[in-house]
Amino acid sequence: MRGPVSLAKPSRRVSPAEPVSELRHVRIFECGEPLVDFLEFCPKVIQDTPRFSYRRETLLRLGVAERLRAASEALPGEYRLAVLEGWRPLHIQRRMYLRTWNMFKERHPDWSDVQLRRVVNRFTAPLGSKVPPPHLTGGALDVFLAYPDGTRLDHCRPFEPYDPRCFASDCPEIGERAKRTRRILADALTAGGLTNYPSEYWHWSFGDQGWAYRGGHPHALYGPIEPNGYTPEPGDDRDEPLVRLEGA
Ligand SMILES: [Zn+2]
Repeated sequence: MRGPVSLAKPSRRVSPAEPVSELRHVRIFECGEPLVDFLEFCPKVIQDTPRFSYRRETLLRLGVAERLRAASEALPGEYRLAVLEGWRPLHIQRRMYLRTWNMFKERHPDWSDVQLRRVVNRFTAPLGSKVPPPHLTGGALDVFLAYPDGTRLDHCRPFEPYDPRCFASDCPEIGERAKRTRRILADALTAGGLTNYPSEYWHWSFGDQGWAYRGGHPHALYGPIEPNGYTPEPGDDRDEPLVRLEGA
């Protein structure tokens, strides 16, 4: 099911922030690939501990699940790929954006909405028709390196796991152990055929606009998608920021 993919090198400067203003020029030719359950499809992949209280789906486009499986098999045997999330429904994306917006507004009450939007958009994709948030396409996933019992390896120390100062994939200030973890993770995922959003070491994709942009591909393969007959969990579809789980 792997379609022909251009491997042309990008001829223009690629921004590691992958701003909406640039991604909007990447056209999407929807290829119609279905979503599949990646836990069923990839026996060596596990689900990472949830961070927020909503029902998580375990879906990815078939072509992404194939690459994730290849990546999981390329990994040294003592490790697993732990996926936090793949496909994400629209109402959860909306609530995640709201949460990130409120978080930065609290930290920087003096920022204008324009300043806020620039920063928030870097960490949580905004809802826009020309640039669908990557998780809505089923082409993107958040993934960490873990032991078979689900314990994550150190990806960040001396930073706390969700300190934005260590989000960049090539963050020079993390320790040697964390650097090694990120290298093992990146080697496996790259071998599988996925590419990394350089502003977030855990966010990888294939077929979405970010993938096309960073890889210099002529167009994206996946637009937004919803499984047939999808219905949100009652209580999840609200206009409130996501709620973080205890200890997450
Ligand atoms: Zn992500």
